[in-house]
Amino acid sequence: MKAPVFALLQRDSDPFQLISDFLGSPIIRIGTQLLILLAIVLWFALVYWTYTDARRRGTAAILWGIVAVIFPFVGSLVYLIVRPPEYELDARERELELAVLERELRSRVLLCPNCRTLVEKDFLVCPACNWELKKPCIECERPLDLNWKTCPYCGTNQETGKKMSW
Ligand SMILES: [Zn+2]
Ligand SMILES: [Zn+2]
Repeated sequence: MKAPVFALLQRDSDPFQLISDFLGSPIIRIGTQLLILLAIVLWFALVYWTYTDARRRGTAAILWGIVAVIFPFVGSLVYLIVRPPEYELDARERELELAVLERELRSRVLLCPNCRTLVEKDFLVCPACNWELKKPCIECERPLDLNWKTCPYCGTNQETGKKMSW
């Protein structure tokens, strides 16, 4: 009866054996497997995120997706650092906004064809050189282009003075 007790004591006193027993226990084994599974799930999620984010920002999405697959975690981290700062949609929206602003400005501000002074849309005469820019409607006196035959505001023909009859 002495031998097994001795063997047990011997095993307990060996720290390496203890560690390997601990690592070999089912709880640790299952825990490790779960951790590996979690890491794989996280890796796939990061690949998906890298790909979709790169596509939204208009950079090489497929390339970054492959990088994220080949270099788990590190690839996505590198992408996070070097990715473009804004979504492609935002950039396009801002461009569109600028274009609209520019058009609005251009439609509101005109240049005198004679002296290039800035004049407003409803100026009749250039304040700098007296160049005739518009003519007032004979009926409602709104500013009309010089070649307009009929006032678009009140419908009066500028030559005959007749109003449009609806
Ligand atoms: Zn002028
Ligand atoms: Zn008019």
